[in-house]
Amino acid sequence: MSETNQNGAMVKFYRGNNIPLELHKVRVVQKLHLNPIEDRLRALREAGFNSFLLKTKDTFLDMLTDSGCNAMSDRQTAAMMIADDAYAGSQSYDRMEAKVLELFGKQFILPVHQGRAAENIISRAFIQPGDHIPMNYHFTTTKAHIELNGGTIHEIYTDEALKIKSDHPFKGNMDIEKLKTVINEFGAEGIPFIRLEASTNLIGGQPFSMKNMRQVREVANKAGIMIVLDASLIGENAWFIKQRESEYHHKGMGAIIREMSDLSDLVYFSARKLSSSRGGIICTAREDLYDQMRDMVPLFEGFLTYGGMSVREIEAMAVGLEETLDNHMICQSPSFIDYFVRKVDGLGIPVVTPGGALGAHIDAGSFLSHIPQTQYPAGALVSAFYLISGIRGMERGTVSSVRLDDGSDLPADIELMRLAFPRRVFTLSQIEYAIDRLCWLYENRQLVGGLEWEKEPKVLRFFVGRLKPIGDWPERLMAKFRSDFGESL
Ligand SMILES: *Cc1c(COP(=O)(O)O)cnc(C)c1O
Repeated sequence: MSETNQNGAMVKFYRGNNIPLELHKVRVVQKLHLNPIEDRLRALREAGFNSFLLKTKDTFLDMLTDSGCNAMSDRQTAAMMIADDAYAGSQSYDRMEAKVLELFGKQFILPVHQGRAAENIISRAFIQPGDHIPMNYHFTTTKAHIELNGGTIHEIYTDEALKIKSDHPFKGNMDIEKLKTVINEFGAEGIPFIRLEASTNLIGGQPFSMKNMRQVREVANKAGIMIVLDASLIGENAWFIKQRESEYHHKGMGAIIREMSDLSDLVYFSARKLSSSRGGIICTAREDLYDQMRDMVPLFEGFLTYGGMSVREIEAMAVGLEETLDNHMICQSPSFIDYFVRKVDGLGIPVVTPGGALGAHIDAGSFLSHIPQTQYPAGALVSAFYLISGIRGMERGTVSSVRLDDGSDLPADIELMRLAFPRRVFTLSQIEYAIDRLCWLYENRQLVGGLEWEKEPKVLRFFVGRLKPIGDWPERLMAKFRSDFGESL
């Protein structure tokens, strides 16, 4: 790891580059429980082999998501104590507004209760039925809101984006030629905005480059289309630009974030990822855009100076945004992910490379290549990994997909197990434990079998659907675990 000193030069914290060094200490701790594997199998059965239905009391490391479960700083919790409770005109809101303006340079600011609420308002304000919205990749809630308002999404990622093994530094880039084709096909009048998502969540937290963003801006300017930036993971995208795009090595986080904002007409984010644990923001420098959205905030969220957030959350957000400019605060999660990905890749375990933001993604399709996609290899891997480690990951494969009208499954592009790295939450020894257990599971992967549905909801089936193992593979896997690990947990 390296750091920019006051003169802008890169300095090394230590010799070598293999230890992701935390520049913070832990001052509040929460006890965790690692239950015996027999208890974990019971919990897995109760949860219908769906990690969303597991309880944290049965979970050792909760790597389900980074949303709303990042560690707070001492300054954030301190700020929460001086929150100014008021329905309207709260000083807490003023502090947060000043931070948003400082970071993004956009003076028209709307508060919302979380990221999807911003997407609801933006989609209602700008999308007409029949419209087309090009984007580097979709996020689940974004797609749902756009489609609810009659829009169609077009994902114009580059060929590199879906490759598991790659050393491309910016797999989140938009394909400029494909963007031009989409604009030619539907016309600028049918495209209310181009959406860019920083650190594209669903394809492994992969960033786009500033160069790519400038090219998108150029195309957008020619066509007269505005750019909407989903900045929920902008801290990490800016960090990767600083690390991987040579002309930005010496720039500060603030300058990079501001440049990304300046290239956008409208910026929104979920504060559950970016800065604190709740809330969200929409901001723009264009009053005409602001006017089109403003009246929906009191209607759907709350008054214009709280937008559904508590004043404590607003204070935490203000400090969290400030800390986004601090390399030490931002680099912890991406450098832990990078450490994990490099080690796992070095052990020959199939993992998405290079490491990105928010989590590591194991390629379940090749990890469990003996399980057909119709038996949900990613779901099976998440279940098996929980069973042998107590670590809860998330299925991002065909279980998270949908059924077609003819009743058949729409197979996912890639079968992934995502292990999220909530910011500043885990220690390196816990990450080593995760690697060690994953390695054991890889050696014993032939013991893992597939899953089938027990209760399948019609919409968003991955949230509350229940599955069951095909055969008695969980018992056989547990028996092998006991024979290798003895009485240990
Ligand atoms: C989480 C997320 C959202 C939605 O935000 P919520 O606060 O969960 O509603 C939107 N976009 C991206 C990129 C996200 O990661």
